[in-house]
Amino acid sequence: MMQTVLAVDLGGTKILVGEVTENGEILSSEKYPSNVENQRVAVDKIKEAIKDYLHNHVLHGKLVGIGICVVGRVDTEQGEWLEIHPGLSEKIFVADEISGLFHLPCWVTNDVSGAAMAENMLGVGKKVKDFVYINIGTGIAGRIITNGRLITGGHFNAGEVGHMVVDMNSEEQCACGRTGCVELFASGLGMHNQTMKLAADYPESSLISAKEENKRISFQALIQAYEAEDLLAQKVINQALQAAAALTMNLVRVSDPEAVVFGGGVMNSGWFLNHLVTFLNEKTIRFVTKGFSVTALDPNAVALKGAAALVFIKQKGERKNA
Ligand SMILES: [Zn+2]
Repeated sequence: MMQTVLAVDLGGTKILVGEVTENGEILSSEKYPSNVENQRVAVDKIKEAIKDYLHNHVLHGKLVGIGICVVGRVDTEQGEWLEIHPGLSEKIFVADEISGLFHLPCWVTNDVSGAAMAENMLGVGKKVKDFVYINIGTGIAGRIITNGRLITGGHFNAGEVGHMVVDMNSEEQCACGRTGCVELFASGLGMHNQTMKLAADYPESSLISAKEENKRISFQALIQAYEAEDLLAQKVINQALQAAAALTMNLVRVSDPEAVVFGGGVMNSGWFLNHLVTFLNEKTIRFVTKGFSVTALDPNAVALKGAAALVFIKQKGERKNA
């Protein structure tokens, strides 16, 4: 019988549960309500979702384990969810709790690590052993895969590349304590904040009405304004591109990858990368022989596939470690 994993993706608004094969095929899945107010509430919601899924779905294969992606810092080896974000920590041994309840081995990881693992097992990792994964959405995070292994760090906090400083002279204050972090300029939220901040200098901009209505400016709206030669949109996007290019080249210098793969809401359409590559220095990127690309994995399914990949990798004890 085909081996499958029950994969769980904990998001801010929904929990996705699905049965996934080793090839990353999602045989069936269902959405459940989420609550990430704190870790205890979130874990209870995950348990409810799994229980309901197992009760109401006919399994297509033989489950070899449960894989879970959550937000925040995770010790995958101990199965311990350490914190949901730096200000809110309530250590929970999620893997033991879930494993005890459902009598299956359970592994848990961070959602960006999960996406990088899915990329490693099902995407660019099929062709290269060394790559960088950069996720640009509301925030920015990344992961480095070197010789097929994900770098996790001593405190499971490696890859928080949104807090790499890209402007030494910036006075933009970041929540992390430093100034000039890339996330302040190149993330979806960063671009929105920059638009709001710079709006006073561009009274003619079409984006002013969004400011007046106090709306969050979507990246799509910024692109449209940019294409219509709106000067405010051009200013915001150009500084985002410059910042993201500095981040990308810094990571290339750090880890000497063969490829760089991008994911996240800002990258999905391909527009940002098409412009980003024009900001990359040829000498710096000369060894990135497999190039720069947007992930081919479905953004809505990548964490589910990553959670499943984690379990298959752990079951086999392969060198491609979590
Ligand atoms: Zn920062």
